Amino acid sequence: MREIKDLREMHLYSLKARSHGKKIGFVPTMGALHEGHLSLVVEAKKRCDIVVVSIFVNPIQFAPSEDFASYPRSLGKDKKLLKNFAIDALFLPAAEKMFPGGFKTFVEVEALSKKMCGRSRPAHFRGVATVATKLFNIVNPDLAFFGEKDYQQQLIIKQLVADLNLPVEVVSLPTVREFDGLAMSSRNAYLNPRERKSAVILYKALSLAQREVKGGERDLNKLLFRLRALIGSEPSVRLDYLVAVDPKTLQEVKKIGGKVLFALAAFIGKTRLIDNMVVGE
Ligand code: AMP
Repeated sequence: MREIKDLREMHLYSLKARSHGKKIGFVPTMGALHEGHLSLVVEAKKRCDIVVVSIFVNPIQFAPSEDFASYPRSLGKDKKLLKNFAIDALFLPAAEKMFPGGFKTFVEVEALSKKMCGRSRPAHFRGVATVATKLFNIVNPDLAFFGEKDYQQQLIIKQLVADLNLPVEVVSLPTVREFDGLAMSSRNAYLNPRERKSAVILYKALSLAQREVKGGERDLNKLLFRLRALIGSEPSVRLDYLVAVDPKTLQEVKKIGGKVLFALAAFIGKTRLIDNMVVGE
């Protein structure tokens, strides 16, 4: 596993691999790796000749009030984990190199970025779209792998790639969960044991939506009311949002029919977690 910090070295590494006809798979992450991240690495290994993983806690996707400074960082452990997967390159760019003083260009994906998490994190997806564009330009992958755990993010990246004609195929993969259903997340490390137990209510609510829709429930308001009541039964959990939306446009739906994305964000104590599930056929 080659460790690359320099942006130009990363670019040349990819150019060389491509000139030898190698297919490059890219897994961008913010580190504190868990099985969710590793599921993307496994798929990248299956589908590509060369796998590049990046670890970069992207400062411009955090608001000043958010957890950039305290975001879990465990580079030594991450490197050990990645060694088991025999990836080819680990890209570790420095924030000062990615966003030097005088950086002025941002990528904004309209509409999709304003919904759901965009409401409570107004500059978040601009930061995500900008760093993704930069990473794609530097790493030059054929395929890039994203998790459906961050459903809105992967949709925004797909829109960005299509709109800017970026020569990369975006692959999205299912959410990997803990034994009790909680979606794996680097931020789960913030939870104390009591909060960790309460957090499973998010998965229970989404599973209830899935079961009810499968069982024929068509009254969306009634269903959303039940899900909110269930989540509300955990005193340490505060909903940021819970919506039922069209999985392609993220527009709120008025009734249940076809595929519906149930998506939520909630604070468990001070920790903000997100999760989602596509239900229906
Ligand atoms: P992050 O390090 O949280 O920015 O995530 C890096 C990538 O891993 C993103 O594409 C995430 O969607 C994906 N990811 C994070 N958690 C999970 C999970 N539980 N299952 C699948 N993919 C995930």
